[in-house]
Amino acid sequence: MEHVIEAATSGRAKCRGCGQRIDKGSLRFGEQVENPYNDGVTTLWFHPTCGAFKRPEPFLEAAEKMTEREGADTPDGFDALTAAAQRGLEHRRLARLDSAEAAASGRASCRHCRERIDKGALRIRLVWFEAGRFEPSGFLHLTCAAPYCGATDVLPRIRQFTTGLSDEAWAKVEQALAG
Ligand SMILES: [Zn+2]
Ligand SMILES: [Zn+2]
Repeated sequence: MEHVIEAATSGRAKCRGCGQRIDKGSLRFGEQVENPYNDGVTTLWFHPTCGAFKRPEPFLEAAEKMTEREGADTPDGFDALTAAAQRGLEHRRLARLDSAEAAASGRASCRHCRERIDKGALRIRLVWFEAGRFEPSGFLHLTCAAPYCGATDVLPRIRQFTTGLSDEAWAKVEQALAG
């Protein structure tokens, strides 16, 4: 599979990691996956940060190729992205973190502590990557995110994928994850 990091040639693709558009000319990460429908391959596009967080293994492959190609001319912040992807290999569950949201019901249990998550409480969505797509894979209490992942640097990842929360609610997320 030929994973790639390159400048986006159009502004039409949406990032598979966060669902937001990838601007034309900005850097994008492409993961090649097998396409079961036509026996060919499909490229899944990501913002580099979203790819480093959610698809660390193919991201690092693409990053290595880019470093070979560009030498020292890799873009600003590139080392931080490869470091984030490395963390994802060391702590595999980090790549499952998605957005923070308010619980729509009180039925789900936390994947870490197994206790119920109250309706309306802020929780973290988990995703599971399989067959070229991210599937929902349960929820965590905010304070269960770090122990579940076995790593404390969870906040930047959740921030990257959270778009639908008020400033007030996000402040609560930050407070819970900082403590
Ligand atoms: Zn993204
Ligand atoms: Zn919990």
